[in-house]
Amino acid sequence: MPKKPTPSWEYSYLTLPAHFYAAAMPFSFPAPQLVLQNNTLFQALNLPQVNAEDVTAFFLNPPVQQKGHPFAQAYAGHQFGGFTKLGDGRAIVLGEQVAANGQRFDIQLKGAGKTMYSRGGDGKATLKSMLREYLISEAMQALNIPTSRSLAVMSTGELVPREKMHLGAVLVRVMKSHIRVGTFEYARHFGTTADLNALADYTINRLYPHISQHENTRLSLLTTVMNAQIDLVVNWMRVGFIHGVMNTDNVAISAETFDYGPCAFMNAYHPHTVFSSIDTQGRYAFGNQPKIAKWNVARFAEALLPILHTNPQQALLLAQQTIDGFDALWKEKYNAMMLRKLGIQNGEDSQVSLAHSLLHLMQKHQMDYTNTFLALTKNTLSNVEPTNSPEFKAWHSDYKGVIDATVGAEQAALVMAQTNPAIIPRNHVVEEALDAAADGNLGLLNKLLELLKTPYNHHDSLTYCGAPPSASFEAEYATFCGT
Ligand code: AMP
Ligand code: MG
Repeated sequence: MPKKPTPSWEYSYLTLPAHFYAAAMPFSFPAPQLVLQNNTLFQALNLPQVNAEDVTAFFLNPPVQQKGHPFAQAYAGHQFGGFTKLGDGRAIVLGEQVAANGQRFDIQLKGAGKTMYSRGGDGKATLKSMLREYLISEAMQALNIPTSRSLAVMSTGELVPREKMHLGAVLVRVMKSHIRVGTFEYARHFGTTADLNALADYTINRLYPHISQHENTRLSLLTTVMNAQIDLVVNWMRVGFIHGVMNTDNVAISAETFDYGPCAFMNAYHPHTVFSSIDTQGRYAFGNQPKIAKWNVARFAEALLPILHTNPQQALLLAQQTIDGFDALWKEKYNAMMLRKLGIQNGEDSQVSLAHSLLHLMQKHQMDYTNTFLALTKNTLSNVEPTNSPEFKAWHSDYKGVIDATVGAEQAALVMAQTNPAIIPRNHVVEEALDAAADGNLGLLNKLLELLKTPYNHHDSLTYCGAPPSASFEAEYATFCGT
């Protein structure tokens, strides 16, 4: 019989001082079974071919290795504004894998049982929530938005107690690194300056090696991360994504979107849109995301203060100057993105008002964010109901005037087709597919996964997942974190 493949993980993270992690092992589950496997990602990561029946052993029975051991990461974070000591309570980094292109990735189990940092939690996860993360993260990848990836979901054969009993599952999550703003806050508040320096050096070396030659590498790390966060959140705004829990422990220094607990996609445009059941104040509402991104980068700057400069006054000045640059940079990148949604590449400031007035009309008439830009892309806007109103017709005629006088309709359509998705994972469709999958019927989920692989295919008209939900679904829909 051919030998079953065993992983050979690497452990560069364990070169950090020991209080940055704690050894951890996956729980021994009664009857683990593969539910979803991402074969394309297996290949991209240079992982061996693993047959479906061997996947659970591959991930859940880590081999004893000389190089290191699976671990949970220590971190802290500001949750809804308040500072707390946290750590991976239900995540275990199995090890690192270097992909075919040389990029190093963490291979992490989510929901595989308790760790040193579980506090009161059980370290487990429900099948539905892990399938949700798999689906949304892979959809984000296809939308060209940096994100954690999903390699596999395995059901555990266990029931997990939540508001009721749920089937348990483990997700295999992949990221360039799980180092977060909260990891730096942990080092700053609970470690020494040497710890903070060790973390900064490791992070630069792993994620942004090009800045290691800069004069002030710590300041470069801050500006690089700020830029990358702005790019990320601009991308979220482009597709109507609401992360839902932008706590600093959920902000990756790699600027990959991660932690898909309470996230959701907006249907009708409104900046106040919130779906998370725990976000009662709307802190993480759609339109608040840039403000929160800035606040989070400010927490990162604060954590870096002791190593930004030997002179504390000078360090504070550098941090402040950097954060003061956020708004202008945001405006530049956000406006450029909104103009691309209108088909205008390298637009001018004077054209931005077109985007703002369209958003204003969409908000007033409760128009679907995705489908309005889709109709603009496909030149079918006149079919959309409220666009028959005089004020909308006036806007459209202004818009057409600008397009005709500048880039031309053909070029604009090309830009829009790359910017405006034809399909997003709409909440009502996602819920339906996940409920069926949690009952053992994967048909709808697989169909949705397939459709979401090509979100910029504007040729087929979508009958499934194209229409917004009913008003009653939208009014009642809420997402729940940490299930
Ligand atoms: P999150 O809201 O998902 O970012 O999680 C916040 C913190 O709670 C992290 O430290 C998680 O590891 C921890 N956590 C969430 N759910 C559980 C659980 N079921 N068991 C243990 N820790 C958990
Ligand atoms: Mg988290």
